[in-house]
Amino acid sequence: MPDYDVIVIGAGCGGITAGALLAGQGRKVLVLEQADRVGGCCSTYEREGYRFDVGATILELIAPIETAFQMLGTTFRDEVDLEPCDPVYNVIFEDGSRLTYPSSIEAKAEIISRISPEDGKSWMEYARYFHGFLDTVMSGFYVSPANNMTDMTRMLLKAPRLLAYSPLFVQNFEDVIRKFFKNEKVQQSIYYPGFFCGLPPALAPGMFGFLSYSEHEGVWYPRGGMIKIAEALQRCGERFGLEVRTGQRVEKVMVRGRRAEGVALADGTEVTAPVIISNINAKTLYLEKIGEEHLPWLARVGVKSYRLSATAPMINVGLDYRPPLDAHHTVLTTPMEKLNDYWFGKMEKGLLPESQFGLACFPTFSDPSMAPKGHHVLNIILAGPYHLDQMDWDRDRQAYGERQLEMLSESLIPGLADHVQVMDVATPREYERRLLMPEGAFLGLDMDLTASTVFRPAARSRSIKGLYLAGGSTHPGGGVPTVISSGIIAANLVDRYE
Ligand SMILES: Cc1cc2nc3c(=O)[nH]c(=O)nc-3n(C[C@H](O)[C@H](O)[C@H](O)COP(=O)(O)OP(=O)(O)OC[C@H]3O[C@@H](n4cnc5c(N)ncnc54)[C@H](O)[C@@H]3O)c2cc1C
Repeated sequence: MPDYDVIVIGAGCGGITAGALLAGQGRKVLVLEQADRVGGCCSTYEREGYRFDVGATILELIAPIETAFQMLGTTFRDEVDLEPCDPVYNVIFEDGSRLTYPSSIEAKAEIISRISPEDGKSWMEYARYFHGFLDTVMSGFYVSPANNMTDMTRMLLKAPRLLAYSPLFVQNFEDVIRKFFKNEKVQQSIYYPGFFCGLPPALAPGMFGFLSYSEHEGVWYPRGGMIKIAEALQRCGERFGLEVRTGQRVEKVMVRGRRAEGVALADGTEVTAPVIISNINAKTLYLEKIGEEHLPWLARVGVKSYRLSATAPMINVGLDYRPPLDAHHTVLTTPMEKLNDYWFGKMEKGLLPESQFGLACFPTFSDPSMAPKGHHVLNIILAGPYHLDQMDWDRDRQAYGERQLEMLSESLIPGLADHVQVMDVATPREYERRLLMPEGAFLGLDMDLTASTVFRPAARSRSIKGLYLAGGSTHPGGGVPTVISSGIIAANLVDRYE
């Protein structure tokens, strides 16, 4: 008799969702997590009284999360205390000028109209267009498997209106922004969520244009930090007998005759189950945990051909002053050409950007409990490659953090460097060590069209029987609600086939 019905490797949001839902189906489920807490990139830790998020800093498009909690017999809002974030974001341009965008679409149009009346009108069109797109994809794309062409056909039959949006699948994000908006500042301020897909404007698929609209359907922060989502999923799963063990690293997936049979842990223990759900990077899973010898040659070639997604260094600081920022999220923006130039000209050569672009997240703006009374927390997410040319992430970690804070203090966030009480720099190497994410790839695999839907590693493995994938490496890709969708898809597939 196997020890469990299902073993889940990794307690990121995708893995813990799949585990909880499968426990809810009455199965005996064990989740094995190598870190000392759940949530993976969507987690929170404490240092000297300050609570820092590990990666993800906000939530939007929460419908799949709501679905997961309903499948567990409860609601998201009953389990997690959600704080709405309005204004949705503040933009700081390179020249130091600022804009603050509220949640209301109409109020944002007025602000844009003050810069460019033509673009103010275009924003309303943009919002209408992507509202329609989102409505269509949320009913099909995000909650259906995309394992093969039959699944794709089913998806289209379920959401035939998707065909009306086919131009988005051949355009890039930059084309979409330039088609709608003419003013350079407006373009920059609306493009920014492209940063979330880890690709430059010229490579990010046009469909990600929805990200610039979806924030206006609501942005939320879970009180107590992003870990509250995974903790709530764990708690709901435990009501059905889910077992979660932290500090347990899976070394190997045991495979016999192309069938998964269990896992071997770092301490040599073996645990058996006929169904394994992997929540770890698909390249690591197939090439290291399973081993090439168990894969058909086509699968070997396929897995090796995937590119890891981009990484992003994150500087977490505890402050003894209130930073002069007007929203939970502040975008440090730059023109789209500069983003493309950096990506194609410098990043691949291992260089850091000369000017700073990225995000300053201000959790204590929404939830003061994230820091001691009167103190604040900022998470600063910047751009930078895993492989550095002249620097070394480990050797230069502290100096990098200090330099970035000084640069931010000079113009964008005055006073910042003088008020730091605690600093923790999560370099790409740190992500790799802390979460075993290869090269700190925060979305698993690249999110371009060649690695989307049916082209992304399948949620039900085509090479190994009894093996399923949940998380950023499989459809629909990285992002908290998206990986929760992948957890729902994996649990539904196990229900159908096992
Ligand atoms: C800096 C940053 C900012 C982000 N911002 C946002 C945001 O604002 N909003 C948003 O929606 N998304 C954001 N994301 C993306 C989002 O956090 C991720 O896409 C998502 O959380 C990934 O979930 P996952 O299920 O793929 O698992 P992961 O979070 O990748 O977790 C995988 C888990 O597996 C564990 N593991 C790995 N190997 C093993 C092993 N061998 N044995 C046992 N356990 C193992 C790891 O420790 C980890 O806990 C951000 C990510 C980063 C890094």
